[in-house]
Amino acid sequence: MKYISTRGKSPEAGFEDVVLTGLAPDGGLYIPASLPHISADQLQAWKSLSYAELAFEVIRLFVDGEIPDNELRSMIDDSYAAFSHPDVAPLKYLYDNQWVLELYCGPTLAFKDFALQLLGRLLDYFLSRRNKHVAILGATSGDTGSAALEGCRHSSFVDLFILHPYKRVSEVQRRQMTTVPGSNVNNIAIEGNFDDCQQIVKQAFADQSFLPEGYSLAAVNSINFARIMAQIVYYFYAGLKFLDDHEGVSFSVPTGNFGDIYAGYLAKQMGLPVKQLVIATNRNDILHRFISGNRYHKTALEPSLSPSMDIMVSSNFERYLFDLFQGDTDRVTSFVTGLGNEVQQVTEAEWSRAREHFDSFSVDDDMTCSTIRDVWDKTGFLIDPHTATGVKAAAECDRDVNIPMITLGTAHPAKFSAAIEKSGLDTPTLPPAMADLFEREERYTVLPNSLDDVTAFMQEKLGQV
Ligand SMILES: *Cc1c(COP(=O)(O)O)cnc(C)c1O
Repeated sequence: MKYISTRGKSPEAGFEDVVLTGLAPDGGLYIPASLPHISADQLQAWKSLSYAELAFEVIRLFVDGEIPDNELRSMIDDSYAAFSHPDVAPLKYLYDNQWVLELYCGPTLAFKDFALQLLGRLLDYFLSRRNKHVAILGATSGDTGSAALEGCRHSSFVDLFILHPYKRVSEVQRRQMTTVPGSNVNNIAIEGNFDDCQQIVKQAFADQSFLPEGYSLAAVNSINFARIMAQIVYYFYAGLKFLDDHEGVSFSVPTGNFGDIYAGYLAKQMGLPVKQLVIATNRNDILHRFISGNRYHKTALEPSLSPSMDIMVSSNFERYLFDLFQGDTDRVTSFVTGLGNEVQQVTEAEWSRAREHFDSFSVDDDMTCSTIRDVWDKTGFLIDPHTATGVKAAAECDRDVNIPMITLGTAHPAKFSAAIEKSGLDTPTLPPAMADLFEREERYTVLPNSLDDVTAFMQEKLGQV
């Protein structure tokens, strides 16, 4: 399978290069040149597979022979063996044909483990084959950091530099990153917000001349297509459970960078019967403003109770724009680069197509808390504030109640105890594997919101290797 850039100015790349570089050289994002299509018969055959078996079937289509099947199979098995539930991604019934797909049974208790457990192994495999080293540089609004560190810390070919916004991630999230051991692990707290962190990462990728000889940068945020690929799997896994009784399922997805919901969009394009895809945002609702009003523009970032969705601009939206503009890469480029402080719009026809693909709803902190409370009162099931935005958006959108509505449960509630307490409920306890989190030693460096400070720090660390 060949991958192309959304901005049309980079050569085609294979899977290995896509994994190792993340961002395309022209600043665009890699997408498959064409998608595999899954027939109805194949869907039937996939119904009986375990999570890891299904993951292998889906993922090998994207790897397309660049890793021998037996090695790919064992990387996938290892990635999901560490999950605490035998189903890997269990489904929980709420009410009114609404379900929650629990995607937080991995080592860091958030859905990002699904992709990063595998990405760490893919990177290690390709790097050892090339005998090459990379510095992973990533920005995180919370959950990516710990999942990336857990996924990659065992690799002797990787140094990790993870930026998080200083004092703007939850204490559990911070501790999950800063207590990860390893001399290749570097946590940097930036005196700014998540978008500042992302900006620094983007600039460093654009000019890598600061790196010591022999190093290059690799991205593990959701601009890396391998992450999207791994997330496609759980849409199939959940959707296949309803294959015979329904004309499809719908998904409500707590969304920040548009990565997770884009994976659902691809699953649908590949042939999974999906009725609706609901974009659930918090008050940082650039995507909802676009879907509801055809206006895509930046507004000030506001901290919310669902910090992993606190973004000003959704980077993966660019991948969807490529489809919406029917492959017109010049229009993608001008839309994305023109964003600055200008409002971007699409034609009426394009906008109505986008509204056929997606519903959207913006959930503020009060609604988040009342939803956590409401689900608890009705079912005794505790959901985290990100998941709550999804449940609320699912309830608000116009839907056919005969179609199962599956909200992606993106994090364990114990990661976000402040929101749970605000909802008037008892502080949730951390699962046993993480019970001593508050006693572990933390390591991180606070740096100003400045590219030069970050690159100098990296030079120093990498120079010591
Ligand atoms: C990252 C994250 C999200 C948002 O996912 P995107 O792929 O950025 O849309 C939602 N919830 C949680 C808990 C997350 O960690």
